[in-house]
Amino acid sequence: MVVNGKVLTMDRRGSRAQALAIADGRVVAVGTNREIGRFTGRRTAVVDAGGGTVLPGINDGHLHFNGFGFEASNFGFEGPRIYSYDVARSTAAEIAAVIAQAVQEAPAPDSWIRASQWDGTRLDRLPTRDVLDPVSGDHPVYMSDISHHALAVNSRALQLAGITRDTVPPPGGIIEKDATGEPTGILREAASGLVMAAIPPYTPAEVSEAMDFAASVLHSLGITSLTDPGVGLDQVDLYRGKILDGSLDLRINLMLRAGGTAAALEETLAGLGPMGDVDPRMLRVGEVKVLADGVPTDAQTSWLHEPFLDGGNGHLLTAGADDAERLAALHAVIALAARKGFQVGTHATGDAAIDAVVSGYLATRTNQLRHYVIHGDLTPPGTLRTMARNDVGVSFNPTIKQVYSRFFDTTIGPERVDYQWPFRTALDNGVRASSASDAAVVTPDWLIGVAGAVTRQGFDGKVGGIEQAITMEEALRSYTATPAWQDHAEDWKGQLRRGYVGDVTILSGDVLRARTAEEITGLEVIGTLIGGRVVYDATTSTAPAARAATGKVAAYRHQSAAACSTTGAVCCCRAHEEARTTRA
Ligand SMILES: [Zn+2]
Ligand SMILES: [Zn+2]
Ligand SMILES: [Zn+2]
Repeated sequence: MVVNGKVLTMDRRGSRAQALAIADGRVVAVGTNREIGRFTGRRTAVVDAGGGTVLPGINDGHLHFNGFGFEASNFGFEGPRIYSYDVARSTAAEIAAVIAQAVQEAPAPDSWIRASQWDGTRLDRLPTRDVLDPVSGDHPVYMSDISHHALAVNSRALQLAGITRDTVPPPGGIIEKDATGEPTGILREAASGLVMAAIPPYTPAEVSEAMDFAASVLHSLGITSLTDPGVGLDQVDLYRGKILDGSLDLRINLMLRAGGTAAALEETLAGLGPMGDVDPRMLRVGEVKVLADGVPTDAQTSWLHEPFLDGGNGHLLTAGADDAERLAALHAVIALAARKGFQVGTHATGDAAIDAVVSGYLATRTNQLRHYVIHGDLTPPGTLRTMARNDVGVSFNPTIKQVYSRFFDTTIGPERVDYQWPFRTALDNGVRASSASDAAVVTPDWLIGVAGAVTRQGFDGKVGGIEQAITMEEALRSYTATPAWQDHAEDWKGQLRRGYVGDVTILSGDVLRARTAEEITGLEVIGTLIGGRVVYDATTSTAPAARAATGKVAAYRHQSAAACSTTGAVCCCRAHEEARTTRA
């Protein structure tokens, strides 16, 4: 049982309590300390919340799970080893220095070097192959950008991928060329696939190790459920094996990757075998992930009704020679998934892409499947009203809002940045809006996202559209009850009620009293339960707890540094950054 807490049940009435009792994995009672005290037996384990907030287990509705495991070191979570180097730097020369270091540490003279987190909006120049070649020897190098929608590779990687001046990019892909027509090493959207196909995949043992590490980090952050978007069939088997043998203790919702055509999706769905005796509350495979457009970073691949400030625009990334063909392909993919009984979640950031996705959902007449928009950055108010009427949800990214702050002022302009992730308009219109990190784009530390949703304030202190702010209770609901609805699980998780699973997240203080971003992100997770099992306890954990605490501070510093170097010399963040370090 959990006692001495400020229990926010997240039921429809917003009921509160002090304590709850869990038996056989389920909540059996919620009430005062006294009411719950009578459930005490000789073998009852008592968790003292110490006056902190007690929440239903946090559900991150869009988190690239093993990808995060491989990149957790970029967010300060110290993992078993470095799989991917952090190239969040402000000059190309600094990136070259990181790669030179990676070459020193490489296990073999021709092994692949992986890195991520470069950001074209803050670099003095793009890290093209002429930057990487002089320091990389025989090593092929690939570096994913902060959005994971662009790659920077060296000449050796281009060679292994067979990319030359004559290579035709796949539909939706861009191979950047220099003035002489040679590829520069920058590959956007689907063109990244050419290099990805040449990289030896991580071995199952490596993936398993990354998943174990990711799980330990998520437990320490209070996350008990997640949706992993865009997995292949091989990953389904891996998840299934780990859930069955008990080595993975998280509630996992998998989205199968659709590909750009209905034919590709048909093939994937045909290959999906039965789940066997895996607990459907631990592993659900009922969704398809579709990619509609790109991102509003300097890549400028979002598909917008009004173009980017410099006149550029993205387009749909499904197969087709023009907008009409691509729209038809998008709708065909959505229709096929729905016909096969799959819930569809579609990545769409630009308003034109979002409208295209929602019209595709409505055409299927399968509202009961609860299709939803992923990201939904610029969902127009009228579209939000349509979504509310038709039970189409949206999965927003308030952590990205907090971390990126006003970075996109230069690409989409301040008005659209203010509106980006329109939480207030969505909720006021009755849209089921949940929150998700999209890790490893940013850290899965959801308290940073709560701060972003409630204050609309970035790490640099700049506010991005206060009129779209929501209340603390609404923000917490967007990480608990609402994503449970998205998972078709609202009658057994996402709330602390009798009969619901005993998934619990306990905070170090009263979250309802936290007003500023610093107060919100200053709270620590002190305990995490899944089905009544204690998977994280800050007071007794030794190595993982210390590591996680360090990681949290480091993650904060990492992102503060990113914000500071973009916004100029005057550093606003150092003060509270140091305050956090001292506290921890
Ligand atoms: Zn996405
Ligand atoms: Zn994503
Ligand atoms: Zn700063």
